[in-house]
Amino acid sequence: MNFKILKLAGWGNYLPMECPVYRPEKEREVPVVMASHGSALVARGMGRSYGDASLNSGGIISSERLNRFIEFDAEKGVITAEGGVSLAEILDIAVVKGWFLPVVPGTKYASLGGAIACNIHGKNHYAKGDFAEYVLHLKLCLPNGESLDCSAAKNAEIFWATCGGMGMTGYIERATLQLIPIESASLGCWRVKAENIEEMVALFRENATNSDYMIGWIDHFARGKNLGAGIFEKSNHCKLTDGLPLGKYREKPPSFSVPKFFPAFTLNKYSMALYNRARFCGIGKKGATMKRNFFEFFHPLDALKNWNRMYGNNGFFQYQFIVPEGKNAAIDMRNILQLIQDSEHFSFLAVIKYHRGGKGLMTFPIAGFSIALDFPAGEKILGLLDKIDEELCRTGGRIYLAKDARAKPGTIEKMYGKNFREWKKIIKEIDPQNKMDSAMGKRLGFHE
Ligand SMILES: Cc1cc2nc3c(=O)[nH]c(=O)nc-3n(C[C@H](O)[C@H](O)[C@H](O)COP(=O)(O)OP(=O)(O)OC[C@H]3O[C@@H](n4cnc5c(N)ncnc54)[C@H](O)[C@@H]3O)c2cc1C
Repeated sequence: MNFKILKLAGWGNYLPMECPVYRPEKEREVPVVMASHGSALVARGMGRSYGDASLNSGGIISSERLNRFIEFDAEKGVITAEGGVSLAEILDIAVVKGWFLPVVPGTKYASLGGAIACNIHGKNHYAKGDFAEYVLHLKLCLPNGESLDCSAAKNAEIFWATCGGMGMTGYIERATLQLIPIESASLGCWRVKAENIEEMVALFRENATNSDYMIGWIDHFARGKNLGAGIFEKSNHCKLTDGLPLGKYREKPPSFSVPKFFPAFTLNKYSMALYNRARFCGIGKKGATMKRNFFEFFHPLDALKNWNRMYGNNGFFQYQFIVPEGKNAAIDMRNILQLIQDSEHFSFLAVIKYHRGGKGLMTFPIAGFSIALDFPAGEKILGLLDKIDEELCRTGGRIYLAKDARAKPGTIEKMYGKNFREWKKIIKEIDPQNKMDSAMGKRLGFHE
């Protein structure tokens, strides 16, 4: 099978690289490519991981054309599809039948295979856990070309090394997913101002048992005792009589595309401060209620095609870290936010979520709070992120590999500890010849 050399990057557009890309059309072609290609390969879905997880100058198997639905049981809400089917496509056929994805990331343009390989989480992680918990089983093409059915009950070791395993255990050909029932395509939301990180944390804890989803936006410009101030939002699915009828749900294509050569200087400290001021005024201590449809609630960024170009040609880093739940959670986050503020680096967006422990060896969430931040890429920011990594290692926190483009290998071992070592052992067993690898795998020493 032929490949094409393409210049690719992760969503952060940091350090693009030329990669030979195979685009098989049939599942049976995947093992053929694996057997015949001379060097290690990695799968690539929709390229929405921010760093180098789906890049490989040695070779890539794209799931772009392996994107068929196999079966949808609309009575039970069980769907089977190939790894290249997007979450948008699943929502398109499921919502009108009264079913919804149990775990939804901030973009619907992620593939089923990518969602499993990153074991993604949503705004409901504290209650519903991660994506893999709803994968009933999956079919994996192992590095030796053999097909393997696995689930939490069958070949469980490989299943849990694959969910969150960043494509290193093989190619996910198809998966069967349990969906959750819904009555409408809207959510009832309540937003309130949090005066600082301590209040934000308290709001998450207080509302965890009465909310389907919770999220907070931190005003990165609030200082001193107000550090970590922002808006907290909790939301619940609307009932049939309350929300947008399911039949009215249709995936909307993006309405506007950011041009290729967007001037990066427009995103500077001053424009970010203005944006933050506008965003955080207007919501008071009493709070405000509103009804929002799925598009506005789950995927506001998807309305702007190629929004990642706003950071210019050098790209950007998304840095998502998590600190453990406990009495020090707010202090740990305060310390990190302070480190960032002292460094005079600012993030356009700062999103905070609440998590329970995740399943899977390399799954990102532990029980705790995560914050995701976007920084323009460059030499200067690297030192700051290394410093935060050290702080996380000290406090038992970690970073999310699906967002990472720059961490050092020793750091990941410290953060993921014995899970990382166990995972590497499993990879060695199923892939003794290192047939799967990615730019991330090489950078972080997954095969060492
Ligand atoms: C705007 C935005 C918001 C986001 N919000 C969230 C969020 O809320 N929560 C969250 O958890 N993540 C979030 N993400 C990250 C994103 O959801 C995940 O990285 C997602 O899994 C990417 O899917 P993809 O198809 O683009 O995978 P890619 O980026 O192409 O690949 C990601 C990894 O999956 C592997 N992979 C892909 N397909 C396969 C396959 N068929 N078999 C084996 N391995 C495969 C690749 O090798 C790679 O290691 C967000 C990303 C964006 C851009």
